[in-house]
Amino acid sequence: MSTCAIPIDLSALRRAGAQAAGAGSTPPAAAAPATQATATPATQAPAPRWPQAAIEALFERPLLDLLFQAQQVHRQHFDPNEVQLSTLLSIKTGGCAEDCGYCPQSAHFDTGIEASKLMPLDAVLQAASEAKAQGASRFCMGAAWRSPKMRDLQRVTEMVQGVRALGLETCMTLGMLDAEQAQQLKSAGLDYYNHNLDSAPDFYGQIISTRSYQDRLDTLEHVRQAGINVCSGGIVGMGETRAQRAGLIAQLANLEPYPESVPINNLVPMPGTPLADAEPIDPFEFVRTIAVARITMPSAWVRLSAGREQMDDALQALCFAAGANSIFYGDRLLTTANPQAARDRALFERLGLRAQGQAAAPSA
Ligand code: SF4
Repeated sequence: MSTCAIPIDLSALRRAGAQAAGAGSTPPAAAAPATQATATPATQAPAPRWPQAAIEALFERPLLDLLFQAQQVHRQHFDPNEVQLSTLLSIKTGGCAEDCGYCPQSAHFDTGIEASKLMPLDAVLQAASEAKAQGASRFCMGAAWRSPKMRDLQRVTEMVQGVRALGLETCMTLGMLDAEQAQQLKSAGLDYYNHNLDSAPDFYGQIISTRSYQDRLDTLEHVRQAGINVCSGGIVGMGETRAQRAGLIAQLANLEPYPESVPINNLVPMPGTPLADAEPIDPFEFVRTIAVARITMPSAWVRLSAGREQMDDALQALCFAAGANSIFYGDRLLTTANPQAARDRALFERLGLRAQGQAAAPSA
């Protein structure tokens, strides 16, 4: 799965691309969040809840101290052995007008991904039913659009209603939204809208030129104002510095309120994209990013997102210890074969984890 702003089924895309291209303890003072300024003079902007320096200080902590702190925060807000399962479906793949440098769906790059039309409603509902049968509690639908057109919005609202009727939470990622579009999705019952910030503002321009950082913040604001839960995170391993990773977390953690769901993606370099040859990030740095997200956004679902397929079980376990408590689950659920879900079930069994909503095993 890609690190896309749009959470598409990247397992499928990767295959296609490959074919085509060949509370704990008190944090140190420097890492403590600033309290929200209430008596700030009107002429002065309020201090951010999490100054960048405090977030950078978290990144600098010894890894085991950082993990301990993250785990303590995690346990104050969540059952540490419970993981939320989301399944995603690309409802409209490829041919996107944007130029996100990591994304094989961009029409700017020759990645071998063919543009497809919006999936029919019955196929989407079939995939959602299968996801539910596999144990998913949330069904995410992504379309490779700059923003949805009016005629498309009508069709995706039907998908939201249909998936909700199956008893699943719904999430969509359709590109930029204006206030009216966000309201329409809210009226259809949409639970979450995903729109990633991707990276820090001072690195973003190296990755994307067709959509500004402010465009992204505006969409998040429209989603928030409409009363839809915000899902927003980013991608690491694109060549950014540690300070820029901290900058991404600072942007997310200082949103008022911070997102309910925070996907942290590890770049999966895709053939044909400008980031095809990006150097992989140190796995422990990825774990640190998860831990810092957990500490700074204590009640958010922190999703171990793209890149999980490339991680071994031990690294995934470390990510859960760092406070990740959501995953994308399943491979292509339009087919009966689902080896990825089987691997996840085996991992959960070994780690004693369970899916959100599943009863805990009685203690011996
Ligand atoms: S906006 Fe388009 S190019 Fe950018 S990540 Fe989404 S699908 Fe890919």
